[in-house]
Amino acid sequence: MEPDPRPSLAVWKFASCDGCQLTLLDCEDELLPLTGRVRIAHFLEMSSAEDAQEPATLAGTGPYDLSLVDGSITTDEDVRRIRHIRRISRRLVTIGACATAGGIQALRNFADVDAFRAAVYANPEYIATLDTSTPISAHVPVDFELRGCPIDRGQLLEVITAFLAGRKPNISSHSVCFQCKRRGTTCITVAQGIPCLGPVTHAGCGALCPAYGRGCYGCFGPMANPNLEAMVRELRHDGMTERDIVRVFRTFNAASPEYGPVPELAAQSAPVPPAEEEPR
Ligand code: SF4
Ligand code: SF4
Repeated sequence: MEPDPRPSLAVWKFASCDGCQLTLLDCEDELLPLTGRVRIAHFLEMSSAEDAQEPATLAGTGPYDLSLVDGSITTDEDVRRIRHIRRISRRLVTIGACATAGGIQALRNFADVDAFRAAVYANPEYIATLDTSTPISAHVPVDFELRGCPIDRGQLLEVITAFLAGRKPNISSHSVCFQCKRRGTTCITVAQGIPCLGPVTHAGCGALCPAYGRGCYGCFGPMANPNLEAMVRELRHDGMTERDIVRVFRTFNAASPEYGPVPELAAQSAPVPPAEEEPR
C-alpha cells in the first residue's frame, strides 16, 4: 500500500472538560476539507467506542507532524505522558486555558488539596494527584499557545493551517478592547463604569461580553504584556474590592504567570481606610 502523504495530526487530552477538543469537531464545514489535507492519526474524542478504549497512556509510536494538547498537568502520570508526547511530536501546540494557564483546576494551587480530597471523596487515599495544576509549557517546550476557554474555532483553523504550511500562525496578541473598537461597541467601562478585564485579556472572542453590556471576565487569558498595574487601579476605581479583583483574575487562568503580581497590586491599590476620630 502507498504511504499516506498527508501530514499527521494528533490530539491529546489532559485534565480538562474536553471543550477545546470539541471545538475542532465543531468546525463543521471546514472539517471535511481539513481531513483531505491532514491525516488525523490520534484523536480519542472522535474515535469509535471500541477504539476509544485504547489506554490514553499509549500515545502510539508517532511521530506526529502536529500535536494539539488540551488540558493541564495534574498528576505524575500526566508529567510522564506529556514528555513522551513531546518526544514523538514535531510540533506541539497547546489549546485552551487549561493547557496554557492551568485552567479552573489551578485554583487548587491556592488551596489545601488534602482538605478538598477529604471533603469530596469517601476514600481520598485512592486519589493520586499533584498539589498543583500547571500549563503544559511548565513541563515541555511548546511551539505555540492558543488561548481561550474554550478556544475560538477560527483561530484554531488558522493555527493548524499555519503549521501545516510551515509558517507562523497569524494570531494577534492584542487585547479584547481592540475587538470592541472593531465591532463598534461603546466601551462599557468608560460609558457605564462597569468593571471589565478587556484591556488585559487576549483577543479571540470578538469582544462578546461587552457587546451585550457585560464586563469581560478574562476567559481568553492574558494578552501580550498586560499593564496590570493600570488595570487593577481601574477595577478599584470601578468599585471592585481587593478580594474580588484577585478572584476575577483567578477564574480561568489561575496559574498564568502573567497574573502572578495581581494579589500584591490589589493589596497596594486598596483605599486608605478613614482615619479614626480622636477621642475628645
Ligand atoms: S468594554 Fe471592556 S473590552 Fe471593550 S473597550 Fe471597554 S474596557 Fe475594553
Ligand atoms: S469573558 Fe472576555 S474573553 Fe471571554 S468571551 Fe467574554 S469578552 Fe470574550
